[in-house]
Amino acid sequence: MESVQVIIGISTKALDRPFTYILPPKLKDCVEVGSVVLVPFGKGNALKEAYVTERGYLIKEPDFELKEVYDVIEDVKVEKELIKLAYWIHKRYECSITSALKLMVPTDVNAKVKTEKFVSMSKIQAANAAKDLQLERKEGLTKKRREILAAFLGQMDEQKLSAIKLPMKQACQIMGTTTTLLKTLQELGYLSISDDEVGRDIGVLKNRAMGQELILNEEQEKCVDQVSHSLERQGTFLLHGVTGSGKTEVYMQLIQQVLEQGKSVIVLIPEIGLTSLTTQRFIERFGQVVGVQHSKLNLGERYEQWLKAKRGEIQIMVGARSAIFTPFTRIGLIIIDEEHEHTYKSEQNPRYHAREIAIKRSMDHQCPVILGSATPLIESYYKAQAGQYTLLELNKRAVVGSNRKVTMIDMRHELENGNTSILSHDLEQAIAKALQKKEQIILFINRRGFANFVSCRQCGFVYTCKHCDVSMTYHANNKRMICHYCGYSLPVNKTCPECGSSYLKAFGAGTQKIHAYIKKQFPEANIARMDQDTTQKKHGHEIILNAFDQKEIDILIGTQMIAKGHDFHNVSVVGVLAADLSLHIDDFRAAERTFQLVTQVIGRTGRGEVDGHAYIQTYSPDHFALTHALEENYLGFYNEEILFRRAMIYPPFCHILQLITFSEHEESGMKFLNKCLKMLEHYGQNNEQLGDIIVLGPAKASIGKVKGKYRHRLLIKGSSYRQLTNIRKELYNSIDSKIKNELQMHVDINPMIMY
Ligand code: ADP
Ligand code: ZN
Ligand code: ZN
Repeated sequence: MESVQVIIGISTKALDRPFTYILPPKLKDCVEVGSVVLVPFGKGNALKEAYVTERGYLIKEPDFELKEVYDVIEDVKVEKELIKLAYWIHKRYECSITSALKLMVPTDVNAKVKTEKFVSMSKIQAANAAKDLQLERKEGLTKKRREILAAFLGQMDEQKLSAIKLPMKQACQIMGTTTTLLKTLQELGYLSISDDEVGRDIGVLKNRAMGQELILNEEQEKCVDQVSHSLERQGTFLLHGVTGSGKTEVYMQLIQQVLEQGKSVIVLIPEIGLTSLTTQRFIERFGQVVGVQHSKLNLGERYEQWLKAKRGEIQIMVGARSAIFTPFTRIGLIIIDEEHEHTYKSEQNPRYHAREIAIKRSMDHQCPVILGSATPLIESYYKAQAGQYTLLELNKRAVVGSNRKVTMIDMRHELENGNTSILSHDLEQAIAKALQKKEQIILFINRRGFANFVSCRQCGFVYTCKHCDVSMTYHANNKRMICHYCGYSLPVNKTCPECGSSYLKAFGAGTQKIHAYIKKQFPEANIARMDQDTTQKKHGHEIILNAFDQKEIDILIGTQMIAKGHDFHNVSVVGVLAADLSLHIDDFRAAERTFQLVTQVIGRTGRGEVDGHAYIQTYSPDHFALTHALEENYLGFYNEEILFRRAMIYPPFCHILQLITFSEHEESGMKFLNKCLKMLEHYGQNNEQLGDIIVLGPAKASIGKVKGKYRHRLLIKGSSYRQLTNIRKELYNSIDSKIKNELQMHVDINPMIMY
């Protein structure tokens, strides 16, 4: 009798093993390893989806009754290679086999296309609202309701929109309101609320002419040659190219060669770049064979892209992290652009790193992997120097003719000279000049919101989130304090809630505050703000970036997301307003992150015909991360940073196992982690091999409390990955169920974000 082994698609530990089912003759021809089938399961025989991992014959009838496979879900078969990969992931990242298999299929197979609640205000509704707000009294318009309408109009004003549509959740958050209030306003006719299926276009369809191949310069040609000589075998290349050196053109010419061989290509770019011009460049060059995968696609859209890849209707998949699982059958090249980005590591189970998956897949497909960056991860550059990766270098910018100057500005001097504004004298002058010449300006800031925090200058009171132990951020449009970790918000008082003084002051500067200030200084300029608040809508990024590209915006103010990957030719001034902000985070990568950020921002200028000047404002102008970034000297930075890593024993000189606990009660986390610590000591004494681990903590995590849960962490450094895997297993097995109820735990090896 024919039978199959299946993994049931529910992620519980008890079910994370193969089950045997009989394969009825009618399904014989359409079920193979990798098929997704429906099987009756449990007492009620409810149908569950399951992945076929083996197919065979039952030699001997078991002594209990076997059930039959009910049906097969056509179309969603998982390739053998990917089934194997799932098992590899299961082992390497210690996740359930089910959750690993789920990575290989883009959705729950039965998932319906999701709809989302949206709130919108049409042009007519907006006009009515504006008119009624003018009236001193209007039936139904209470103070609170007026505030919300004003906030909607304010958002539209700010973004120069004549109508607005926002996801309900987001609307509530940025308007500082609730669903109920919005419903009331709907009843009054000022707003509309709808259940919408999230649209079906993939967001990169602005029509432009097909892109032409460029004539490579000598450096680019060398890179292309080196990779194309080993297209038929596995190899990992680190392409270190300064910003603007033309990495994308190198990728594209190699892709062309791979397509000519009839093979496919996976291109990973950071999420943020996906909805931007980078993707467009691929589409312009390769047209219909390009697919796109990113998180703003709904399930239906993702599934469609996945199917197209499977059927060979597309040959290039451009996508974020999860696109690494694209079911191409013949991969000829895998590219990871901006390889230093931490988003390539999954922060959820399975906690895989896309680079590790890429290298694993490249072995199965015998193809090269290219990791590209202007600021490679210290670990990657180390591997390149050690010969594990092949180093390719682009030291010159591709477009000559435009100069780039960088100036560091010591903000302490500005203060001494009586300038307390957020703009240094020089930067302000430069902006004015650029505006005169109709050139564009990008101002970069590490925070969103109006100010970092509001505090009392008399007693020191700070608005902190009662759930999260972090200071809350002031949002000017609705005069509320908002917690960026959990969304909790509070109205701002005129006087200090603690001592009653009237010295409540906003400190620091966020994008909104800068926006307001710049608007005041340069009333004629068109100014736009790009941060999480203004881009949550599906096409938020493209709208702003396209407008900037079309020169409809003079000054673009934004967070990290404007620092990356964009290629604008008319930007002559770039300002980093507070380069220190990222230097003071509690993470061993703080210097590296700052170097990356500043380098990327500087790279936004001098990309075309106009000369560029970058201004870096800081209170720590001597920090090596900044001095090297200023000189665009990666190697200089690397050489200093690697000394620090070696001396302090951080990656690449060790692997790190991070244990984070989340608990209702403050003591449970510490108690549990102390137990782990005890266990490790004991373990170490009896085991020579474990002599070289170093334990840090346990301690409160950098952010000690989020969403009402206390966080604690324990770090274990070790020289071998396997050893840490063993420790992880050991710790897992030692957790008794009583503790499990008291706390949750995240265990991660080589995390990219330290808690
Ligand atoms: P990177 O990704 O390395 O920062 P890009 O690929 O964005 O750099 O290239 C920067 C600019 O140089 C782009 O406008 C691109 O069109 C241009 N460019 C790249 N290679 C060449 C070349 N060989 N000849 C002319 N222009 C080039
Ligand atoms: Zn909070
Ligand atoms: Zn006070």
